[in-house]
Amino acid sequence: MEIQRESMDTNVLIVGAGPAGLAAAIHLTNLIETARAKGELKGAAASDEFTMMIIEKSAELGDHALSGAVLDPKGLDELIPDWRERKAPLTVEVKKENLYYLSEKGTFGIPYTPPSMNNHGCYIVSLNQLVKWLGNIAEEKEIDVFTGMAGSAPIIEDGLFKGIITDDKGLDKDGKPKGNFEPGMELRANITILAEGPRGSMTRETVKQLNLDKGKNPQNYLTGVKELWEVPTGRMKAGTVYHTLGYPLGMGQYGGSFIYAMSDELISIGLASALNYQDPRFDPHGAFNDFKRHPLVSSLLEGGKMIRYGAKTIGEGGYFAMPKLYHDGLMLIGDTAGFLNSLRLKGIHLAMKTGIMAAETAFEALNKEDYSTKTLSNYHSRYRKSWAFTELWQVRNFHQGFDNGMIAGMVHFGAQMLTGGRGFTTRLNSEPDHLAMKKLIEMPSARLPIERKFDGELTIDKLTDVYASGAKHEENQPAHLRITDINICNDRCTEEYGNPCINFCPASVYEMVDDEQTGKKHLQISPSNCVHCKTCDIADPYGNITWTPPEGGGGPVFSQM
Ligand code: SF4
Repeated sequence: MEIQRESMDTNVLIVGAGPAGLAAAIHLTNLIETARAKGELKGAAASDEFTMMIIEKSAELGDHALSGAVLDPKGLDELIPDWRERKAPLTVEVKKENLYYLSEKGTFGIPYTPPSMNNHGCYIVSLNQLVKWLGNIAEEKEIDVFTGMAGSAPIIEDGLFKGIITDDKGLDKDGKPKGNFEPGMELRANITILAEGPRGSMTRETVKQLNLDKGKNPQNYLTGVKELWEVPTGRMKAGTVYHTLGYPLGMGQYGGSFIYAMSDELISIGLASALNYQDPRFDPHGAFNDFKRHPLVSSLLEGGKMIRYGAKTIGEGGYFAMPKLYHDGLMLIGDTAGFLNSLRLKGIHLAMKTGIMAAETAFEALNKEDYSTKTLSNYHSRYRKSWAFTELWQVRNFHQGFDNGMIAGMVHFGAQMLTGGRGFTTRLNSEPDHLAMKKLIEMPSARLPIERKFDGELTIDKLTDVYASGAKHEENQPAHLRITDINICNDRCTEEYGNPCINFCPASVYEMVDDEQTGKKHLQISPSNCVHCKTCDIADPYGNITWTPPEGGGGPVFSQM
């Protein structure tokens, strides 16, 4: 279907209103206001025609924002130095922290926590609430934030990044226009800042088309599964932080858990597990429920009530897996560019810092009216001179050190601590996660199903959890999970891997159902369950699933998460 699209021009377009995108918008506005007050504003920002806009796929700010989270306030201190007076939702300071190693039934305190993992001076936060608070500041500054609007494709012309096409609204299941059809528009910008969070769909296409990952390691991911629990008072004191290694993950799989007391009655709990696993039966949601059965955890949650659920992938590849950060007309910031400290499992402070650095570079480009790599490469120069670089350089080989299991990883980590992050070699390489999965023929034990029972109190089945995520999508729209070749799913994948999508999706989107015509099973997808974690886009062994944004506004609602 040929669609006529309206075109709109803007000077600065930010895709994604998370901590990175909002930091970029707020800081750029501050720079413009300060220069105007001094009578020094020049270039494109001085024009009455100047515009900046942010688009965000969720219906309300923060709906799709999910993190653990313990926030290092370093980035926020730079962005909004008076955040305490402005009542930022950083109410619970970390007061006590413990690191444990878990066996199936046992708990062993790890007496030494590396200084870089120390959470002293950090705060337990809800990213959802932090984003809403940043959104209020953006609103005070009269920044145009358009929610319920997703990007569907980048506009790249003659190798230059020119903007994006927003999503079409009002298409039916078969892609035909309904009565309320509204075609997406072309948003053309001098500078586009992609701030989509991990595995951003626009970033994925842009990196591919512009070859921005040439010479880089592939990005490696973890899937984090999280619940919020109301518990009887006294289980954990507000400000207490536990991290665990070990059970339920085996020695061959990297990952760990977090348990954060947001108040004396509210616990944020989650398990993050690496996606370069071998066993096609691995189920991040199932593993999380196994974790909750552990005595350390069940004693905290018993008698409590799960109130929210969510899942999200975490880009852990580190320094060598980050794509080129700029191009003509383009900058990449925050999680979408891989800014995450894999040792600390923290990225919000880096997201804000990159937003600040991108804003300073955009301001310079607007002053000069030069949006080419000549000016935008200064974003990279700023990054190289910043604490963000120093922090990421120290952990540049951390995640890859664990590619051959936990014991090898600890040996690498020890060597990295002694050598400022280098370890045994300058750069550890890695493979895309999905290549690690073994075929059933290579791992015959994976033919045996893993049975899990859920009691509905401590352990919760996927569909109940999906309900608690608030996920809601318009049913009559094209599936936002695109299968390249359904025959691969129904034949080859069944034979070779046993359809791992039914296991790795933490939201029961994929199911193999009986096909009366063929007498075999075929794949059935329930896109409306999707919690937007992007695991399927990464972990499918054939790369046969592509996650695209659903009609703007659809998806989970991660209140308090
Ligand atoms: Fe995550 Fe994909 Fe399942 Fe959606 S369909 S919840 S993105 S694994």
